[in-house]
Amino acid sequence: MRRVFFLGFLLSATLLSAQQYDLVLEGGRVMDPETGLDAVRNIGIRDGKIARITAKALHGKRVIHAAGLVVAPGFIDVHQHGQDLDSQRVKAFDGVTTALEMEIGAPDIAAFLKSKEGRSLIHYGATASHVAARALTFGAPMHEGELVPVSGPATNDPATPEQIEQIQKRLREELDAGALGIGMGIQYTPAATRLEVIDMFRVAAERRMPVYTHIRSFGRIEPGSAIEAVEEVIGAAAITGAPLHIVHVNSTCLRDTFECLSLIEGARARGLDVTTEAYPYIAGATQINSALFNPGWQERLGIDYSGLVVPETGEHLTKERFEELHNSSKPQIVLTFANTQEMIDKTILNPLIMIASDGVKDHPRNAGTYSRILAQYVREKKTLTLMEALRKMSLMPAQMLERSTPEAHRKGRLQEGADADIVVFDPQTITDRSTFEKPMEPSVGVHELVVGGTVLIDDGRMVPDVYPGRAILGSGKRDAGKVR
Ligand SMILES: [Zn+2]
Repeated sequence: MRRVFFLGFLLSATLLSAQQYDLVLEGGRVMDPETGLDAVRNIGIRDGKIARITAKALHGKRVIHAAGLVVAPGFIDVHQHGQDLDSQRVKAFDGVTTALEMEIGAPDIAAFLKSKEGRSLIHYGATASHVAARALTFGAPMHEGELVPVSGPATNDPATPEQIEQIQKRLREELDAGALGIGMGIQYTPAATRLEVIDMFRVAAERRMPVYTHIRSFGRIEPGSAIEAVEEVIGAAAITGAPLHIVHVNSTCLRDTFECLSLIEGARARGLDVTTEAYPYIAGATQINSALFNPGWQERLGIDYSGLVVPETGEHLTKERFEELHNSSKPQIVLTFANTQEMIDKTILNPLIMIASDGVKDHPRNAGTYSRILAQYVREKKTLTLMEALRKMSLMPAQMLERSTPEAHRKGRLQEGADADIVVFDPQTITDRSTFEKPMEPSVGVHELVVGGTVLIDDGRMVPDVYPGRAILGSGKRDAGKVR
């Protein structure tokens, strides 16, 4: 009799544990941009994955009540320069669960991955850096704290055929080390010839990896317009077969953003794999001693010295101050006020546009991009539906990443089997608070942020001493057997 009782106890304990989830998000408005699910559901999370989505009650070791809140896939930022913990913290409060450095890439992928392992709040990854490989080949490697190389021989001199081979070799090694494609800041290496660019696309193509690029130039002056620059990289993609992502079309194409988008649309209609992104701010930000500010920048950017602002002080530059900062070795960031609100507002709505922040600490886009989309375009202007906004911030970047990493199939979605990267926010209150004066003010309105099944933001507060961020690796590393 006692034995029967014991067996019964064991059986019910087993059944109970089979239904027990590590974490349950209960009663939220669950939204999945891929399937179109938009309903009140309970989500059961186990072993870092979404195990169950149902209208039925679920039991969890921990249950978080989400009634009145939106439960969505964590946002994926494919353009995040700031990879430090302060930047990751504000990204988390902005709903971001994955933030990747794809435009410029990491100068040394193995060192980058090692430095972040076990010490990352959100998921991370990077492309192989053409600008860094070029700088290395020219004997002037990029230094810590530099976003892009300083203007000099490594950016302003053409590479010899031997140097191009060396750069290619370095990029292949970086792809082997887990890079998610090749990052090219062509405007920061203006002496890279058309052929050098094509040769880098060839390396990407041979590995079936994408190229992420800041194109060669902005503005309307021919030769060297933004239109020509978009043509150049679409041409390289067509010639080589490498997928292409053009970063921040808003800040490069400026007044010609719609013409640039029409070129991308045309390329896609002809079967090319070309994507693009934008961020919702009128100013850009970049390093003042870079080649972007080589002679001719005023005409191309359509602004004068006073359109450049030092973020820490709000100082508008003069010719003298510009010369001083441009010729200095200090990697000072400046804001470039070169776009209009009207152009940005229209760009964000374009169906080709996914949202990516281009995040750096000195610009409010680092902390506020995603909340700003939800506050300004969904809630205030009502020009985007909530589902469209979520698609631009989660599913579209995941689909783009599928080119280079199979695990992206499990990201950007709220579905059973997907990774439990989830944002729970209040659609009535979510708001960016970062400004050009105070760029690192965190957004408000994210109640919970779950990263790989671990709660990172709980009831609006950061949980201390948890580092659930994991590496997102390209297929080079994966083939070497290092799957996480
Ligand atoms: Zn850029």
